[in-house]
Amino acid sequence: MSLSVFLRRAAVCAAALALLLAAPVRAAQPEEALPLTVSVGGQAASSLTDGSRSTKVTLSGNTVTVTAETPFDALYVIWDQPPGEWILTPDGGQPASTWGRQGFLHEYVTLPRAASSATIEAPQGAILCEVYALTGDTPPAWVQVWQPPCEDADLLVLPTHADDEHLWFGGTMPYYAGEKGMAVQVAYMTNHWGEPYRPHELLDGLWTVGVKNYPVISEFPDLYASKASLESAIQVYGEDTITAWQVELLRRFKPEVVVAHDINGEYGHGAHRLNAKTLLAALPAAADPAQYTDLPYEPWEVQKAYLHLWPENTITMEWGQMPLEAFGGRTALEMAAEGFACHASQTAWFSVKDSGKNDCRQFGLAYTTVGPDTAKNDFFENVVWPPEPTPEPTPA
Ligand SMILES: [Zn+2]
Repeated sequence: MSLSVFLRRAAVCAAALALLLAAPVRAAQPEEALPLTVSVGGQAASSLTDGSRSTKVTLSGNTVTVTAETPFDALYVIWDQPPGEWILTPDGGQPASTWGRQGFLHEYVTLPRAASSATIEAPQGAILCEVYALTGDTPPAWVQVWQPPCEDADLLVLPTHADDEHLWFGGTMPYYAGEKGMAVQVAYMTNHWGEPYRPHELLDGLWTVGVKNYPVISEFPDLYASKASLESAIQVYGEDTITAWQVELLRRFKPEVVVAHDINGEYGHGAHRLNAKTLLAALPAAADPAQYTDLPYEPWEVQKAYLHLWPENTITMEWGQMPLEAFGGRTALEMAAEGFACHASQTAWFSVKDSGKNDCRQFGLAYTTVGPDTAKNDFFENVVWPPEPTPEPTPA
């Protein structure tokens, strides 16, 4: 069971019990988490241990105190939005440490040594959803231990919204990130801070399919654009703005391969269409030293870019025939469905398809500097890997 399913079920059970007993009921956290008490400014805050991310506490500069009977080695902290830098001070005279620098919404933080209580001080207005206390060095699988975004990605994946990455790109992430352990960077063209459950679904989905590097979530809110219109999306987001954003991503992450949307927007969605259209302009622009000279990154030439459903140089990625050891033998297609299932707010409308016009196996090589595919079973076919950097000579 995924954490999100667990949390939803826990929340439903808690609500039902509360109705029955007409008394506050403490919903269970996952069993690996230690029982703990959280208070905010001296007031008990049971909503921070109820297993639900929709019950939250806004901090107005007050100290959060976490206390457990069993000493804990780590905390797993779920925020409503990235809070900025925050300070963790364990008891027993341990030094304080600063967290939040990476902008993680779900952050696993370790203590130098076990403590039975700790305080959290976060900036004014930070909103806390959940706190879990854990023992041992190895967190359970539902705890997301994010790495910073890639320094040097192998693959850049460009969904527009949270859920597109599973629906349209299918087994791409479970296969290349989860199974092959490649450096896969996901960058979302829009953000969903206006729908606070969706950024959690986003992270749960990526974690489920084996992505380890924290995604880029753009500054562009998921605003209303007439869904069938590219022109509407251009008006809302700006073609030059999105192209420049993508050039910066390409130069920053230096991917060999990029995977992106159908040029016709999957089902015509204007923002998906814009994301694909601007990529085709951003790829040569990123490699051109005369363009975008104000960016703080060197030019970068991507070797291959695949668009979902692109009609030329087509390739069928048989995700359903790829059992993945990293996921206990489940296929890349099954994992795509499992990742998408984390997007509980979206599952009523869409599903991962391996047939028909939204087939998540069908791609075309829309841009290549290394020629067409021949074996047609691997996004990395023909990719030339840059030589490993030569180690600095050690002084004799
Ligand atoms: Zn979308």
